[in-house]
Amino acid sequence: MTNTLYDSLFAHHAGNEVPFLLLDDGEVVSYDAFLKRAAQIAHVLQNNGVSPGDRIVVQAPKLADTIALYAASVQAGAVYLPLNTAYTMAELDYFASDAQPAVIVCDDNDAAEIKTLADRYGARLLTLGGEISSLSRQADAQPREFETVDRAPDDLAALLYTSGTTGRSKGAMLSHQNLLTNAQALADLWAITNNDRLVHALPIFHTHGLFVAMNTSLVAGSEVRLMEKFDIGLILEELPHSTLLMGVPTFYTRLLADDGFTKEIVGNMRLFVSGSAPLLTETHQAFEARTGHRILERYGMTETNMNTSNPYIGERRAGTVGMALPGIEVIVTDPETGEQLPRGAVGMIEIRGPNVFQGYWQMPEKTAAELRENGFFITGDLGKYSEDGYLSIVGRSKDLIITGGYNVYPKEIEDVLNDIDGVLESAVFGVPDNDFGEKIIAALVAEPGVELDTDQIASIIRERLSRFKHPRRYELVQELPRNTMGKVQKNVLRDQHTKKES
Ligand code: ATP
Ligand code: MG
Repeated sequence: MTNTLYDSLFAHHAGNEVPFLLLDDGEVVSYDAFLKRAAQIAHVLQNNGVSPGDRIVVQAPKLADTIALYAASVQAGAVYLPLNTAYTMAELDYFASDAQPAVIVCDDNDAAEIKTLADRYGARLLTLGGEISSLSRQADAQPREFETVDRAPDDLAALLYTSGTTGRSKGAMLSHQNLLTNAQALADLWAITNNDRLVHALPIFHTHGLFVAMNTSLVAGSEVRLMEKFDIGLILEELPHSTLLMGVPTFYTRLLADDGFTKEIVGNMRLFVSGSAPLLTETHQAFEARTGHRILERYGMTETNMNTSNPYIGERRAGTVGMALPGIEVIVTDPETGEQLPRGAVGMIEIRGPNVFQGYWQMPEKTAAELRENGFFITGDLGKYSEDGYLSIVGRSKDLIITGGYNVYPKEIEDVLNDIDGVLESAVFGVPDNDFGEKIIAALVAEPGVELDTDQIASIIRERLSRFKHPRRYELVQELPRNTMGKVQKNVLRDQHTKKES
């Protein structure tokens, strides 16, 4: 009897009494207690009609039972489908109709509304988090052992929807093998052990918080200080007792903006990891100046988990995402011909390896368009290798601006803008233009207390960049629109601009 993911992430912790989850209220859940809880929840799933291969939609708060629900889903042979807690009823409806789940698990507070939806799709509704918390209540009465359902390496363990940064979210089918090989590769590369304590302040409905953070901890047997949300005060309190932090770039800019974040409080820390969105070189440098630590940036996505990482031992280079993980091929190709390009050239990033997903859920055409027959996945991200093999992300191919027949990479302009005194950050995007096909617009955020002079900025740009790269307009904004993972939503900027012009 084997269950690829359960056996390697969970089963080997049976009888392991050391702490696994450290919760906000001070409660500590040992590995062994966690496994028993997961077994109870697996019974609840089965009692509610879940069969192997069934989807379990989860839009729930970040609790120990929510993590145990993930383990239970794997143990029961189901397919775990976590959703952003910010999604509205209309969005939820899309995911439920697409995924046809057997069970929906939601926050107690949303139960009344979601019940109608669950009924419509014939799914059982269970709740977590409040007074009723039917999932937890039912679990309390169940046996603490569960006979693990057999699952082969290629069976699905999770269906994760992409963040929807470039369009409608797509369901990425992830197998047991996809998740396990990546967790093992990362734990190994980042030297994660049972001596580590991770500060976990990420949401658990994305690859980053769920798989990169939780699966690597489970592989290694480390402690996880599970925080319900990102709370800077709490993080500052926990850092002195922790060794590892995984964050999105906004974590790091927020830490740096706090005077309480000092070299002293990170004395015990071993590693800071960043991903999900580009980390500015300025942030990397300011972080090193403040703490002596060089943030390790890595690159991944829902469809593949992690693809590349800066080295743990060796140079962590700001502005790059390092090199391919062991066992994974990461190449840069000509977007037109698919031919591999030499180092130094900008092109489409393609990935092949045991981490690459099984295809998009119920989207055979999209799957066929993005997954080549030879196994390479066309990521939609543009990048280039340095001569010594460090990969840099140049941007998304959908954000590439073609103006007057020239290709313009927004990042090149953003890098120059971000270097200008008084500019906190920027986003460059293209909007339709009758003459040029597209024209370039730059949105700028000033540093606190600074009034930016756009004429002066335009003249700096004229000195540094050739004419076809000059933005036609500079817009001052309070902040850039971002999703929960800190990704800048350029489609929102484009829409806002188009509305303003019309
Ligand atoms: P959608 O595919 O629905 O448009 P999305 O691509 O934002 O949304 P995710 O799978 O959550 O959904 O995000 C993966 C993307 O995040 C990558 O394709 C890449 O563009 C970006 N990304 C991840 N890590 C980094 C990084 N270190 N630097 C720059 N970009 C990154
Ligand atoms: Mg994507």
